[in-house]
Amino acid sequence: MEPIHMVDLIGQHAAIENELNAAMQRVVQTGAFVKGPEVKAFSEELQAYTGSRFVIPCGNGTDALQIALMALGIGPGDEVITTGFTFISTVEVVALLGATPILVDVHADTFNIQAEQVAAAITSRTKAIVPVHLFGQMADMDALISISEKSGIPIIEDNAQAISARWYGAEGKRENAPQSGTLGLMGTTSFFPSKNLGCMGDGGAIMTNDETIARKLQQIANHGMSKRYHHDIVGLNSRLDGLQAAILRVKLQHLDAYCLSRQHAAARYDALLEDIPGLQIPVRDVRSSHVFHQYTLQVDPVRRDALVEHMKSHGIPTGVYYPVPGHRQTAFASYGFNLDAHPISDALAARVISLPMHTELNESQQVIVCTALIKFVLQ
Ligand SMILES: *Cc1c(COP(=O)(O)O)cnc(C)c1O
Repeated sequence: MEPIHMVDLIGQHAAIENELNAAMQRVVQTGAFVKGPEVKAFSEELQAYTGSRFVIPCGNGTDALQIALMALGIGPGDEVITTGFTFISTVEVVALLGATPILVDVHADTFNIQAEQVAAAITSRTKAIVPVHLFGQMADMDALISISEKSGIPIIEDNAQAISARWYGAEGKRENAPQSGTLGLMGTTSFFPSKNLGCMGDGGAIMTNDETIARKLQQIANHGMSKRYHHDIVGLNSRLDGLQAAILRVKLQHLDAYCLSRQHAAARYDALLEDIPGLQIPVRDVRSSHVFHQYTLQVDPVRRDALVEHMKSHGIPTGVYYPVPGHRQTAFASYGFNLDAHPISDALAARVISLPMHTELNESQQVIVCTALIKFVLQ
């Protein structure tokens, strides 16, 4: 039996090998390894795809978040409201800039930030709100935008996991529904290989419709430089390289098909698992599309770790995203977060398990995954 992978990039790339090789050869022959025409073309193509007026490529998704915060001048004394039920980067960059992360809890069904708690956490020091579109489904942008408009505090969407998701809103309007990352003042994303649009190394980007912010982002990502060797502000060296851009140009053309593959795989998991007692399949928010960066179940917390081991013993990989929420991370101990203030994040950290999810996953593999899973859950 062929092994089942959490993510199958080798299979994904094999299907487009000729396109990828031609793209990489183009870069080798032109010698534009950092910046250059491929990076420019990719930025323009991603602008067209997402509908964002500006796309600023950078080194990775963590830098994208940091650069976005820097563009707002965020530093010591400032507060940024976000969630701790996320990958570490979202909170880490706030700490790196000397600002204070203010963590609020998430919804038990969608895993996404609770807008009411965001509103309640706003103070005179709040400088940004950073929702994360976790696992491929968007946070409550209607409520967050309304909070942002009332308070004047900008939103930076951490869109590392949900590129190409769409916000339908309460009316469920599918036509011209805006894409994730384009509703806030800025949206950041990551092209880490395992993300829904992944390159073959590190990469990231920031999106915005605001021209002044776009110029600032560009400048910060490039050593704070306005004119060659004239540095107006302290910036960083964060750039996408030519090979990654060329690879991303190829893969962007397949992104819609990749999303469909993930959605079909999710629907097959749903059908196999929805009637099994003791399993909570992913809850869909009808106001957002779901691009299934992860397919994440909730199970009995007492048996979750044993389930991981059981799956492993059947040769099936699973993931726990995320076992330790931000308010419990040792790195953030100095903030003295109230450990009792995030009961849902704490509960989810003990309950979640993500199944293999990728563009190459087929039904027979999913039957194997679910058979092993159901056997354990029902025993
Ligand atoms: C992957 C990820 C990032 C960071 O992206 P990198 O490219 O790995 O730096 C940030 N936020 C979330 C939610 C992520 O999943």
